[in-house]
Amino acid sequence: MARKVLIVEDEANIAELVNLYLKKEGYETMVAGDGGKALELYRSFRPDLVLLDIMLPVMDGWAVCSKIRETDKTPIIMLTAKGETIDKVAGLEMGADDYIVKPFEMKELLARVHAVLRRLGDEEERTRRLTFDGLVINLDSYELEVRGKRVDTPPKELELLFHLASSPNRVFTRNQLLDEVWGFDYFGDSRTVDVHIKRLREKLEGVSDQWSLKTVWGVGYKFELHTNA
Ligand code: CA
Repeated sequence: MARKVLIVEDEANIAELVNLYLKKEGYETMVAGDGGKALELYRSFRPDLVLLDIMLPVMDGWAVCSKIRETDKTPIIMLTAKGETIDKVAGLEMGADDYIVKPFEMKELLARVHAVLRRLGDEEERTRRLTFDGLVINLDSYELEVRGKRVDTPPKELELLFHLASSPNRVFTRNQLLDEVWGFDYFGDSRTVDVHIKRLREKLEGVSDQWSLKTVWGVGYKFELHTNA
């Protein structure tokens, strides 16, 4: 699946150029032109990486960075203007993963993006663990934690939940879920998925108003993140 990059930059020509290059490299992208929009898109788009300009309308890059760091470890590369050397250090201290000085070569930016995402990929492989409000899905220890308490969950249920929650808001058909969670060799029917979803719901109903396991009628299921929560 394509990695998602959120580009936060108020200079339209730079944003457009970066957007173009990242798209060409196969990344899925969104652009925010101010700090408020950045946080809004951050929550709905769930990027794997944020490219974050510092001087922005509404809310500056520092504020956006620390807001994201309140809850998430999502990699952030700061885009700093020439001469903002003190800010580089500050940015790394505030939880930015890297910085790049404007004006930059696209080649350099892409190299940084690749490097940060490669590190992220290694980390994800090491810790197959997803965290949401009141919910931890750990595929290393095969444990489900709901509001801080361990809840006994059969492996397939946990794998199904992990699969859905790895791509929030994406709708999966029952057949996709059978293929991707149970495997192509599985001869069960799509009712199997329904039964597992039902059992998961019994464990997760009402736990948080920030996410839910949704039925998309006539299509399938999704792990929905509520952007207004
Ligand atoms: Ca700017």
